[in-house]
Amino acid sequence: MPNNLQIQNVMVTAGKLNGTDFLIGMDIITLGDFSVTNLNEKTTFSFRYPSCETINYVKQAKELQRKDLQKQLKQLEEKIKKGGKCPCGSGRQYRYCHGKIQIKQIKEELEKVEV
Ligand SMILES: [Zn+2]
Repeated sequence: MPNNLQIQNVMVTAGKLNGTDFLIGMDIITLGDFSVTNLNEKTTFSFRYPSCETINYVKQAKELQRKDLQKQLKQLEEKIKKGGKCPCGSGRQYRYCHGKIQIKQIKEELEKVEV
């Protein structure tokens, strides 16, 4: 392995598939942390032993989404504080027209991404 990790007494099968080397030995994956990432279309396989951390991509994605929604909510609340008519042309205050609807939608989305 690239990080000089050696695991002994584990049966694996090596081969080639479409010109790519592969190993079959799922027992190794259960010993440590294995990940496949695809940032900027670059696929990276990584493995470390021993396991030292739990990585939950779903939870991380939800946290990012929640932060983004909270930022949107704050910006909307600031816009509402300034007052003014709704840009939709109804003649009503933004806070009682589309501002109210948008805040409700963001709060509903926030409830969906609670961890
Ligand atoms: Zn409106």
